[in-house]
Amino acid sequence: MEVQSIQVEKNTAPKEKPMTDQLEFGRAFTDHMFVMDYSDELGWHNAKIQPYQPLSIDPSSMVFHYGQSVFEGLKAFRTESGEVQLFRPTKNFERMNKSNERLVIPEIDEEFVLQALIKLVEIDKDWVPGADGTSLYIRPFIIATEPFLGVAPSRNYKFIIILSPVGSYYKEGIDPVKIAVESKFVRAVKGGTGEAKTGGNYAAGLKGQEDVAKDGYSQVLWLDGVDRKYIEEVGSMNVFFKINGEVITPALNGSILPGVTRDSVLQLLQHWNIPVSERRVSMQELADAHADGTLEEAFGSGTAAVISPIGLLCWDGKDYHINNGETGELSKKIYDTITGIQYGKLEDPFNWNIQVTQKAKVNQ
Ligand SMILES: *Cc1c(COP(=O)(O)O)cnc(C)c1O
Repeated sequence: MEVQSIQVEKNTAPKEKPMTDQLEFGRAFTDHMFVMDYSDELGWHNAKIQPYQPLSIDPSSMVFHYGQSVFEGLKAFRTESGEVQLFRPTKNFERMNKSNERLVIPEIDEEFVLQALIKLVEIDKDWVPGADGTSLYIRPFIIATEPFLGVAPSRNYKFIIILSPVGSYYKEGIDPVKIAVESKFVRAVKGGTGEAKTGGNYAAGLKGQEDVAKDGYSQVLWLDGVDRKYIEEVGSMNVFFKINGEVITPALNGSILPGVTRDSVLQLLQHWNIPVSERRVSMQELADAHADGTLEEAFGSGTAAVISPIGLLCWDGKDYHINNGETGELSKKIYDTITGIQYGKLEDPFNWNIQVTQKAKVNQ
């Protein structure tokens, strides 16, 4: 499909934009959305940008019953000079196709949907907030829409992109969180859908999160589903530990979601010549490192927060304070560097940014 083939229907009743200081995560949506359909006969077709609006779909649509769906999450940023840029969007569409394969959803044309996204963000560019820490959150997703109650891959799908202006994740500076190690539930197992970005993984994770929230923990640390020993992820983020000068993150083992932020952190560490390894890491190894004073820092990584330092881990009723509950030096440096690149304040040595709009040319 050609980008020129995208029909554009402009919103004639644009909404009032929320005040930047009142932006919450994922509550407000822009004036337009991108939609395209899939059928076995036509493949992906009917690509259009239209006013943001509710969908009308059959209650027997397969997604409502068996959860055949995938999603992505990425952001657009406004730079100081007013340009709008996307952070590593090609990685997200590449990952979406991996998720599609696992969920038996037809492949998307990565280049086409990237061009569609650029066009959509361009149309809604005034919705990209400019204040410090704010951004435009982008949610591409695919749902199975065939009206059928049989358990089989759907023959019809909708691919949709919606956009949401979001406020700063950290109101007063990057802030460490309290995490409980989950011993009862598991998020995913090897061979399951843990490495695909699909809604069911989140539904399965809610109970653990809900249970520990009562005791003041903001998230759970997920252990592997077989031995219940090895660390996988923290909430819906990847996780890193700095032990004795070396940074360690669980290796992608089939049940861990391959985060774009995780990949960015790994690239930066290598660039800085900081020792880093992707390998299996057990909770016992962390406890031992804590006991001998070599557990220096711990943090989660994901698009929403970029870096979320862990100040306290509770495992089997015992509290492990990390770096006195403060943000570690390296955690802060990674956070400052990635956000600096995203907002165009720092050089982009890895070519992570893709421009959506150029600043207005003089004399034009
Ligand atoms: C999306 C996600 C992440 C983080 O991925 P990013 O691409 O860095 O945002 C990590 N873990 C899970 C389970 C996720 O769904």
